[in-house]
Amino acid sequence: MSAKEDYLEFLERRKKAVKNSMFKYFVNQEKRWIKPFNIFGNVYYVGYSWVCVHLIDTGEGLLLIDAGNCGATAMLIKAIYDLGFKPDDVKWIILSHGHVDHIGAANFFKNMFGTKLYMGKPDADMFKERPEFSLIQESTDFMDDIFEPDVCIQNGDELTFGNTSIKCYIVPGHTEGCVALFFNAYDGGRIKRCGYYGGFGFNTLTKQFLDDFGDFEHNMWDTYLKSIDSVINEHVDIFLGNHTENNKFFEKLDILNKTGSNECFIDENEWRTYLNSKKEELKVFISNQNKV
Ligand SMILES: [Zn+2]
Repeated sequence: MSAKEDYLEFLERRKKAVKNSMFKYFVNQEKRWIKPFNIFGNVYYVGYSWVCVHLIDTGEGLLLIDAGNCGATAMLIKAIYDLGFKPDDVKWIILSHGHVDHIGAANFFKNMFGTKLYMGKPDADMFKERPEFSLIQESTDFMDDIFEPDVCIQNGDELTFGNTSIKCYIVPGHTEGCVALFFNAYDGGRIKRCGYYGGFGFNTLTKQFLDDFGDFEHNMWDTYLKSIDSVINEHVDIFLGNHTENNKFFEKLDILNKTGSNECFIDENEWRTYLNSKKEELKVFISNQNKV
């Protein structure tokens, strides 16, 4: 094939990619850069303005919760350096769920630094059996790929990383293998309980999507509500978002920037309030879907 033909083919491929509704999320990601910051004690924010990534300094290595969007790995590396940490020290990554916008840096960290990858068992199975539901095909880089995690998380697992013990639950809904995580963060003598819910989006809960998935009875709607109920009564002082839209992220960041204090991230009511609001939103969503 000539260089000219190669180039024309490239233009065709790009034209097709631009038409994808997700395209905007995968290009110019540096425009969504957020300066990394400390949330509380040994817990830090290293994500950007759309997808969250959290870093926990366990005293015996760094743990990431989620790996960011595909195509955003360079920014994640910069965020880790900017905090004074080294990406080489990231020993573990727990993936919130198996979608393209949360697994971006997983292969890179594993290959570069030997980072161990953890993921909910149902999503690990999805990668193997039905990789198309990872939505990896939405990435603008067709070489991005899924992977086999080193550890499959099961409901109720308690995982220990250095000084941090994490209680893990599988909360199917957004995907079958979303994980909810609960752990203590330490700031000197202070201890705060962090809570994380690994996926709220309704984009995978339309009738069309569920039919495509083979859930013709749309049982996942009820499963989603039950998953929320299973963890809503956990005590959470600090609600860590999966996407920045989940936890008044920008409101808090604004306060942090104005006052220099991160106390605004501590709110023992936010977890329950937000999870309740998602239940109500889903009920409206279901009734609208049933009208379709
Ligand atoms: Zn997702």
